[in-house]
Amino acid sequence: MRALRLPAWKSEPELVEVPDPEPGPGQVVIKVGGAGACHSDLHLMRDFTGGLPWAPPFTLGHENAGWVHAVGDGVTGLEPGTAVAVYGPWGCGVCERCRLGVETYCENPAGAPVPAGGGGLGLDGGMAEFMLVPDARFLVPLPDGLDPVAAAPLTDAALTPYHAVRRSWAKLPPGSTAVVIGAGGLGHLAVQILKATTAARVIVVDTREQARESALRHGADHAVAPGERAAGEIREATGGRGADVIIDCVGAQETLALAGAVARMLGDLTIVGIAGGALPVTFGSPPYEVSVQSTYWGTRPELSEVLDLAARGLIRAEVTTFPLDQAVEAYHRLENGELTGRAVIVPN
Ligand code: NAD
Ligand code: ZN
Ligand code: ZN
Repeated sequence: MRALRLPAWKSEPELVEVPDPEPGPGQVVIKVGGAGACHSDLHLMRDFTGGLPWAPPFTLGHENAGWVHAVGDGVTGLEPGTAVAVYGPWGCGVCERCRLGVETYCENPAGAPVPAGGGGLGLDGGMAEFMLVPDARFLVPLPDGLDPVAAAPLTDAALTPYHAVRRSWAKLPPGSTAVVIGAGGLGHLAVQILKATTAARVIVVDTREQARESALRHGADHAVAPGERAAGEIREATGGRGADVIIDCVGAQETLALAGAVARMLGDLTIVGIAGGALPVTFGSPPYEVSVQSTYWGTRPELSEVLDLAARGLIRAEVTTFPLDQAVEAYHRLENGELTGRAVIVPN
């Protein structure tokens, strides 16, 4: 089969011929229906030189959906042809965190298929005709009304901001404000998740006009261009109080500075983007009792909740599809800021 592989850190991915995967006991091979192109893949191609518990070569694509193709011994309840989404962070399955479905924060990395990674992040991902999923528990049958192209981005571009928003629900009652910085793949879904699950007013910040317009189309109440006046504009829009919750889907020096400047006392400032910025924390800044946290992806139960929101039409990934032989082009368009929503590679 054909697969888009990252051969080494700091390299361009290559479309190459590889053997078809075969399922071992407990495993499942899916025929890939959609594989989202995440900005994290650009960080893998451009920024990382190691420092992770896993390394290339591997097939890219960590947000995937498709159809059950072949099941290994002992797998029951997944008929070939069933449409499924792949839960991407693969933990050990038995530690305390994994038993609660929080496989992102598995505490037994030696028992996981790849420590703190998954398919497309150390093991082979979905930018190929077929993908090996090492345990049937990582597959969620798609609810009616969702196909693999629509579902693929939900497994990361929606699941990640969903987890970040969900943990801040208590801070988002009527009258509150949430700010989403970066309205790309994750951000345009963060806006919809906030609208569907909270009563907060939603303000987006993005450098690109087309991303701000996309966010407004998807329900944002207000869009702001970054720059000297951005913090003042956000403070003004909140009656001077600031934002109760800020989800920074960029994570650069300047976006974290903006987040710290607009946070409301007692608020949440959540770092989701991995652009490598730092936020100084002193007694007076960010404002009193602002909680700062980073979040990684989401939990297994949360993926079912995200799929339910989408099946009921409450959130929807805006998708541009590309065949597998144009996946590199899709990444270039993502890198050049020429896309809105998510690029999804359709290998079959
Ligand atoms: P994307 O390229 O689709 O979207 C990023 C958006 O941010 C773009 O619209 C861009 O115009 C905007 N932007 C860039 N710099 C900006 C700035 N200085 N101010 C305002 N807006 C700016 O990327 P994505 O796939 O949505 O990923 C976003 C980030 O989240 C990446 O760093 C990615 O690696 C990271 N990520 C983290 C997790 C996690 O689990 N924490 C999961 C997925 C992705
Ligand atoms: Zn990702
Ligand atoms: Zn575990």
